[in-house]
Amino acid sequence: MGVGGRPAACASCGKRLNYKSWYYRNGKHFCKRRCWNTEQEKTAKEAAAKAEAASKAEPAKEAPAAS
Ligand SMILES: [Zn+2]
Repeated sequence: MGVGGRPAACASCGKRLNYKSWYYRNGKHFCKRRCWNTEQEKTAKEAAAKAEAASKAEPAKEAPAAS
């Protein structure tokens, strides 16, 4: 990602963006619509995995070993 506000690469595949035909959604730029779909699926999967991990996480991980 560029620093000056202009994105340099697709947020999904990392390909350099063609400024004439980029695809912009939710604050991210993609080189094409397919990449937007891919990113959405990825984000949804990650969110689901995170939620699952959180629900399965052992609560005693950082608890003091008091017996
Ligand atoms: Zn792309």
